[in-house]
Amino acid sequence: MKTALVLGGGGFIGNHMVNRLKAEGFHVRAADLKSPDFSVSRADDFLTGDLRDPLFCRAVIDRRFDEIYQFAADMGGAGFIFTGQNDADIMHNSAMINLNVLEAVVRRGGGRIFYSSSACIYPEHNQLDPENPHCAEDSAYPANPDSEYGWEKLFSERLYFAFARNHGIEARVARYHNVFGPEGTWQGGREKAPAAVCRKVALAPTGGSVEIWGDGHQTRSFLIVDECIEGTLRMMRSDFPGPVNIGSDERVTINQLVDAVAAIAGKTIHKAHIPGPLGVRGRNSDNRLIRDRLGWAPSRPLNWGLARTYAWIATQIAAA
Ligand code: NAD
Repeated sequence: MKTALVLGGGGFIGNHMVNRLKAEGFHVRAADLKSPDFSVSRADDFLTGDLRDPLFCRAVIDRRFDEIYQFAADMGGAGFIFTGQNDADIMHNSAMINLNVLEAVVRRGGGRIFYSSSACIYPEHNQLDPENPHCAEDSAYPANPDSEYGWEKLFSERLYFAFARNHGIEARVARYHNVFGPEGTWQGGREKAPAAVCRKVALAPTGGSVEIWGDGHQTRSFLIVDECIEGTLRMMRSDFPGPVNIGSDERVTINQLVDAVAAIAGKTIHKAHIPGPLGVRGRNSDNRLIRDRLGWAPSRPLNWGLARTYAWIATQIAAA
């Protein structure tokens, strides 16, 4: 039986990955500070602990696995990343995790490891025009991410490739663009825009209004988690190390996102624009490289993912 390790397996994407790997017949070990928030983990073996602790890391990585997925990071949506208040934790905690993980992987003889980087590594100056953001993989340098979260991701990308170069591990690096879906954080301050908008619309009466940070003209694309998992597996099992974008190229404004969710909910919703942390003005996944190297790119429409996510969040609210 093939073995897989999912670090951050109690988180949103990690838990979806555990489910997929179990469905494929893998023996799966997961490790995280916490269990999944909304379901029971299907991992054969779930180790709870802190990957900033090198000894815990070595205990988790106690053998060579066929596939290792590294999702553990101190992260959240704009309300967590862009305020400046969490910068030291974001940089310190995630860098510690990646340093420890790589040390332990080398200690156990190497192997193939996937690292989840982010679109937040792209230079701010290429994302000032909401209609024309530039996020091709080779535009990452000269580097100028707009957050410390992005700088840590860029450092860790380089760390994985340096370990590949010097210690013979097989690194795979993808840059995720705004992943969302059922079982994603939807309240509490770390939620991302699609979940926050779904929650606000679900709680609003028809004819009511929802608050939007900024003027709502900033653009983004949003990838449903199923496509994220599919792309990750395809990349992991290819001979292409990346870095490569895994994201949707269906660019929408935040105002359009609200309108789409309101339509799914069957409600008339007004938008109240208020000051808030924003991030870059425009961002969209450039999928030319992934199409070229893997012969695949995410293709499900945004509405497909929003409908499923809205239904799941509405159920959570009803059950609360
Ligand atoms: P998440 O917050 O749901 O999952 C991260 C998990 O890491 C959490 O369960 C958390 O408990 C765990 N973790 C944090 N610190 C830890 C520690 N010290 N020891 C052990 N576990 C620890 O986030 P997610 O949305 O599932 O994202 C997974 C990965 O993908 C992250 O690395 C993130 O930076 C990256 N990413 C996500 C997105 C997105 O839109 N979701 C976009 C770009 C990149």
